[in-house]
Amino acid sequence: MDLGLKGRRAIVCAASKGLGRAVAFALAREGVDLVITARGDEALQATAEEIRRETGVKVATSAGDITTEAGRAAALDLCPDPDILVNNAGGPPPGDFRDFSEEDWISALRSNMLSPISMIRAVIDPMIERRFGRIVNITSAAVKTPIPTLGLSNGARAGLTGFCGGLARQVARHNVTINNILPGPFLTDRLRANAAGPARAAGHSVEEEIARRAKANPTGRVGAPEEFGAACAFLCSANAGFIVGQNLLLDGGASNASFG
Ligand code: NAP
Repeated sequence: MDLGLKGRRAIVCAASKGLGRAVAFALAREGVDLVITARGDEALQATAEEIRRETGVKVATSAGDITTEAGRAAALDLCPDPDILVNNAGGPPPGDFRDFSEEDWISALRSNMLSPISMIRAVIDPMIERRFGRIVNITSAAVKTPIPTLGLSNGARAGLTGFCGGLARQVARHNVTINNILPGPFLTDRLRANAAGPARAAGHSVEEEIARRAKANPTGRVGAPEEFGAACAFLCSANAGFIVGQNLLLDGGASNASFG
């Protein structure tokens, strides 16, 4: 399927590895020129080079922390008026809510709510003027089915979701869409890191813990980042202008509900 994106420009935040990287690849395969970001420059350059080699699109890199004003400004300097914005950043750490300090909460809100909102604010008016914009926030299945040990994530991402739900309805008439993708377990460094604690507690390896989770999932496996990238590229496609303010749960059916 041709997604009608050839020649478009995208900023994909936090994209040297994992889900962001898979999104960058999927958009590049559709002929989208990219700005990709991450804090670590080495992996970022390697990913950029791989994408260029495989797809031939232009890939600019911005090494910096997207949760800081300087990190966002650097990415936006490279592409002040993207057609596509994919918001992403690392997830907050797990823990017992009694141990979270106010600074922990502010940090989670900065990473997973305020930074994406700042990026949206920076790019949305030119999108409205050009009558094309696709914004996707990578959030988490925890928005719909909260994970007890990830209270910081449950809370901060729900805030972003509520804000974007309202904004999406204000900009849709200009062919600017805002949607969220909610990943369940995808095989990335983040999944491995989150599996480490439970693996230790259960006295088995991280690989065994991931295999246990895969077995418990209705699909019998965890997700492949490429599947995530393909779904995100579809939400960014030219014909996706009527998909507005949705929360697309990609969890292999793990959340047990008849609707949504
Ligand atoms: P990942 O494999 O650990 O990759 C994270 C990527 O983001 C890396 O490229 C990392 O590079 C970059 N990054 C992290 N913090 C950044 C920052 N502040 N500024 C710029 N770049 C940053 O993680 P992932 O699995 O792709 O997860 C992506 C998001 O989805 C996270 O918020 C995660 O919590 C959420 N999620 C993932 C899963 C899953 O199963 N994978 C499930 C639910 C939710 P640097 O470290 O070099 O910056």
